[in-house]
Order: sequence, then structure tokens, then C-alpha cells
Amino acid sequence: MTTGAEHWQALADAGPACFTEGVSEFIGRYGPRRSAADRLTSELEDVALFAEKTPEEETAEIAAARGWQRVLYQAGLAWLSGPVPFGGAELPWRFENIFHSVEQQFTVPSRRCLGIGTSMVGPTIEKHGTTAAKEKYLRPIYRGDAIACELFSEPEAGSDLANVRTRARRDGRRWILNGQKIWTSGAHYSDVGQAICRTSPDAPRHHNASVFLVDMQSPGVTIRPLRQMTGGALFNQVFLDDVVVDDDFRLGEIDDGWAVTRTTLLFERRSIAAGEGRANTDVFRMDRLVQLLRDQGLAEDPVLRRQLVELYIRVEVARLATAQAAGHVAEGGAVPGPELSAGKLALSDNYGRLADFVSAVLGPKAAADTGEPGCYPWSKLVLGAIGFRIAGGTDEIIRNIIGERVLGLPREPAVT
Ligand SMILES: Cc1cc2nc3c(=O)[nH]c(=O)nc-3n(C[C@H](O)[C@H](O)[C@H](O)COP(=O)(O)OP(=O)(O)OC[C@H]3O[C@@H](n4cnc5c(N)ncnc54)[C@H](O)[C@@H]3O)c2cc1C
Repeated sequence: MTTGAEHWQALADAGPACFTEGVSEFIGRYGPRRSAADRLTSELEDVALFAEKTPEEETAEIAAARGWQRVLYQAGLAWLSGPVPFGGAELPWRFENIFHSVEQQFTVPSRRCLGIGTSMVGPTIEKHGTTAAKEKYLRPIYRGDAIACELFSEPEAGSDLANVRTRARRDGRRWILNGQKIWTSGAHYSDVGQAICRTSPDAPRHHNASVFLVDMQSPGVTIRPLRQMTGGALFNQVFLDDVVVDDDFRLGEIDDGWAVTRTTLLFERRSIAAGEGRANTDVFRMDRLVQLLRDQGLAEDPVLRRQLVELYIRVEVARLATAQAAGHVAEGGAVPGPELSAGKLALSDNYGRLADFVSAVLGPKAAADTGEPGCYPWSKLVLGAIGFRIAGGTDEIIRNIIGERVLGLPREPAVT
């Protein structure tokens, strides 16, 4: 079978149906299609919104993800919207979206642990990186050799990244970084981190920070896990003590780090809205939710039935609205507009509604393991849904963005 960028470009030119068929045929060679029955009886693993792995499971999952990513890279499928010289196929982004939907239909390794690199940091390097940064990181990220993380949030700066205190001090061609980052997803298995650091302490907000690519194995990088209430430890504190970064690995202009970070956040919201790397369509599977109602003897309960139908409608509306927005914006490798942020907001709202529904159906069985199959795993969704409202921009911040940048409403008052 022919593969490579030209092959996928020809299929894309022939239309989404041909492209979908070609991708299905390719992926089908590496894993069977998941049948409806498989999906119904499958373990409820996919309802955990944030990874809850033991170190051994995590190591195995990363190895499998890297292996599958390498296969996709060799076939020209690892970065469909990216530039050909770096392993891309220069297709409109909607083909990435099609690819992810097809991939979810097959039993192939999850690539969730690679997503921050492939969907957020990689595209940012492509937009703002020097030639040296592109050469060092782009192919490894898309080949599965380099995993990336986002070193944005700090104890005193989350929504308001203009307030970061981690300092980067220039020393000739080098920068010396000092400070603390927090909530860094996947830092413990990452090879490179995209860090926003203050470079001009006295300059006005949004013009005082720059972005650097930090080699996570550098001397001076200390990573400490943070255990979340669901049990896993996906997040970390990252301490930077005299960490040296060459100026080649600065992204964008000095003191223009806010613009670079905003680019990454837009890529992040687009990827969350589109459900890349996560079976979020599966989390909302209606067959399984109907089965849950039946198993609990509640299929005739009018309130729960209504709740489920409302959820179904909202999930479908969000899916269609996101697909429509994705079709209109962010073609090629362009930075997505704020429109797709609404998809992230809809998704976190729907996770919240799903958590409410499941809690109403299962009651205490979602809070304590009674041994009854198919019940307790939902606790991971119930506890994880709240985190989803915060990660990648809180609901309130996204509402502000939609109000101001999509609807053109007056700006919210802000501390200056
Ligand atoms: C699952 C998860 C994964 C994460 N992964 C990462 C990661 O990989 N890298 C990373 O750097 N960070 C990560 N974070 C951190 C995340 O980006 C921040 O938690 C988030 O930006 C909010 O910042 P904060 O926690 O400091 O809350 P704050 O910014 O202090 O917000 C507190 C509350 O005030 C509200 N608020 C703040 N400003 C405004 C405003 N202007 N208008 C209206 N309301 C406002 C917020 O909505 C929120 O309800 C992750 C968080 C979670 C939950």
C-alpha cells in the first residue's frame, strides 16, 4: 500500500470520504475495528478524564504510544496539517480531525501522552521557533521520540499568565531560568517543556515575558509529582534552578511571550474541542449510558430519561458546532481563532452534566466500590469533570474570550 504525504494529499483531494476510507484501511492493518459489542462491554477505563496509571502502566502506555506514533510518522500520517519537511502533509486541519475520529474506531494504542507535543507545542514551535528549534524538536515530537509539556502555570499565575514570576536572565547567548511551575501535566515523562518566563520585570503586563524550550533533563530541573483526588499523579511541580537555555530555543521575540503562549492556548482549545487523543466521544456513548440505566433498574425513571436525552442533544449540538467551526477556521497550519474555544466550554459543560447524570443514577455506588461491576469506575469521571473546567483555560476565562473576541462585547474589567 502506498503511503507518504503525497498519497494522503491525493486522497484528500478526492474528498473526505476517500480520505476516510484510505485512513481506515491503513489503521485496520494495525488493529481491529472496535465492534459495538466490544465498546459496550469494554472496561470503563476511558471514563477517567485524567490518567490514573501506576508507574508500570504509564511506562508501558508511553512505549506503546511512541511505537504507534512512529508507524504513523513513517506513513506520513503523524502531522497531517504540518509542513512536509518536518513530516507533515500540509493538509487543512479538518483532515487531522477526520483522522482522529477514524483512529478512535480502532483498537490501537492511545496517543494521549503525546498530545501536548503533537497538538500544542509542536505547532507553536512551527509558528514561532528558530530554525535550530525546529530542527531539534519537530521531527522528534511527531516521530514519538520527544514528549512535550507546558510550563505555564505558577502558584501565583494561572489564568493570568502575565503575572508569571519565573525569571529568565540573559547572559550572552544563554538564558538562566529560575522559578517554580505547577500543575505541569506529564512533566515527569517529558523531554522538553515550553516555559513562559519573565524577562523584563519592569515592563508593562503582556510585554514582560518570553517563551523558552527547556530540555527537561537539564541540570537544575527538579520535578515533584502532585497527587490528584482521583488517585493518580499526572501533574507536577517543576522547579527551575539556574537552568541554562540557549537563545536558539527562545520562541518568538523577547518580551512577546504572551503572544506565543496565546498561540499555544488556541491550539490547545482546538485540540480539546476536537477531542484529539482522547476517546471523548466514547465517554458520552449513549448505548452504555442507556445500559447503565437499565442495569440499575431505572430505565423508566422520567427524570433520568429526560436528563439523558438533554445530555444527548447537548453532546450532538457541541459536536456539530465544533465540526462547523473547525471547517471555517484554522485551515492549513493556521493558528485557530477564538471560535473553537466555545467547543472546549461545551465539552466541559457536558462532562459536568454527565457527571451529574451518573451520580444521580449510581448514588453511593459511584462514591465507594461495592464490587458491583460497571459502577465505581465512574467516580473517576465524576471527580475529573471539575478539573476539565479548569484545564486549558477556566470556563470563566473562556466566557470572557467568547464575549470579547467572538461577540465583540466590551472588555471585562481587569487589574492593570
Ligand atoms: C487537569 C489540569 C491540567 C493542567 N495542566 C497544566 C499544564 O500542563 N501546564 C500548566 O502550565 N498548567 C496546567 N494546569 C493549570 C491550569 O492551566 C490552571 O489551573 C488554570 O489556568 C487556572 O489557573 P489557577 O489554578 O491559578 O486559577 P486562577 O487563575 O487563580 O482562577 C481562580 C478562579 O478565578 C476565576 N478567574 C480568574 N481570572 C478571571 C477573570 N479574569 N475573569 C473571571 N474569572 C476569573 C477562574 O475562572 C477560577 O474560577 C492544569 C490544570 C488542570 C486542572
